[in-house]
Amino acid sequence: MPLRAKVASSVSRTAAALSRAAGRGDGSVIGGWIGLKIDPDLLAHLAAGRAIALVSGTNGKTTTTRLGAAALGVLGPVATNSFGANMPTGHTSALAKAGATPFAVLEVDEHYLARVIEETTPRVVALLNLSRDQLDRAKEVAMMAQLWRTTLAAHPDLHVVANADDPMVVWAAARAAHTVWFSAGQRWLDDSWVCPECGSAIERADGEWWCTGCYLRRPRPHWVVEDDGVVDPRGDWHLVKLQLPGQVNLGNAAAALAVAAEFGVRPIEAVPRLAAVASVAGRYAQVERDGRLVRLLLAKNPASWLEAFDMAEFAPTLLSVNARDPDGHDTSWLYDVDFSPLRGRPVLITGDRAFDLAVRLEVNGVGFRHMTSFDEALLATPPGRLEVIANYTAFQDIRAELDRVN
Ligand SMILES: [Zn+2]
Repeated sequence: MPLRAKVASSVSRTAAALSRAAGRGDGSVIGGWIGLKIDPDLLAHLAAGRAIALVSGTNGKTTTTRLGAAALGVLGPVATNSFGANMPTGHTSALAKAGATPFAVLEVDEHYLARVIEETTPRVVALLNLSRDQLDRAKEVAMMAQLWRTTLAAHPDLHVVANADDPMVVWAAARAAHTVWFSAGQRWLDDSWVCPECGSAIERADGEWWCTGCYLRRPRPHWVVEDDGVVDPRGDWHLVKLQLPGQVNLGNAAAALAVAAEFGVRPIEAVPRLAAVASVAGRYAQVERDGRLVRLLLAKNPASWLEAFDMAEFAPTLLSVNARDPDGHDTSWLYDVDFSPLRGRPVLITGDRAFDLAVRLEVNGVGFRHMTSFDEALLATPPGRLEVIANYTAFQDIRAELDRVN
């Protein structure tokens, strides 16, 4: 690396370490920010010489990045931004901290994908899904898909690993030169009923989807979730035993195996490593507290709330919603989520926007009790399991009360 980049990298690591020592999170954002101030090309310098995979999409990218890094670990040390700092500051910090590794798997915010592709020249880009997110800030889904499509068309060397079940992703990846398709299923359909190519209706049946007005349809996937395992492109089925709950994480595992395979990792070598991942930045973590087994599930937009209802067991469930900057200020998305799967479960609510949640639950006929704090909710729960489903800052608050579980 040039001298300026070396200095920038060293200062970046120090700043991140200081921030961590001061108890201000994991320090990756401030570390990367300072590094990029000293050398604006620092990310490109740090990326040079590494074989890199980027993972992007509205949901599942932190988990898939973690699983992908575990799978790629078969080949050697892997740098990764495992705590979800998914903008260039986070990537810079992660690579500076990791030192020289032959591989990197990086989670990338959808909006930054084009820039991070330019700066890191990845070998593989994985595209998971696109759905509505943070209404006051995120791009419309179709605009996001268009941005990806333009970017991928401009980088014909990229190997794209993409979700065949999401019409918006398929359209975005359709102009890429090398594409491997995986099938992870799609529970949330309400952002892809209209064809992004021609505006006609999209129809679905038996796991397939097709546009009623043009060529766009579900491609034949190379990697497929089947029962509790994944079928690889040769047709071999692999049992995938995850500690992470839910069908959606089997889909994330399929994506991770497909990414690793692009680097030459065989699924039979990667699968045992996926099983070792117990939680991801506190998500899915199970913590024993006062005789209750608390499990933390993050849900930050309509699609991820649906997945969380699928993951949560039929047990007392605490819902917590905030509307601070990282969450987005607009909570009207609560009306896009069908809360009826919670009927019959003891439901507790808390968070800054608990009363928005209360109105929403009442509309869906779901009974609930309001709690002023996580501790109060814990005391109100009988010994046994407590499922916690929370959006971003609400999740971080509860995670802090549980002593920042990983
Ligand atoms: Zn069409």
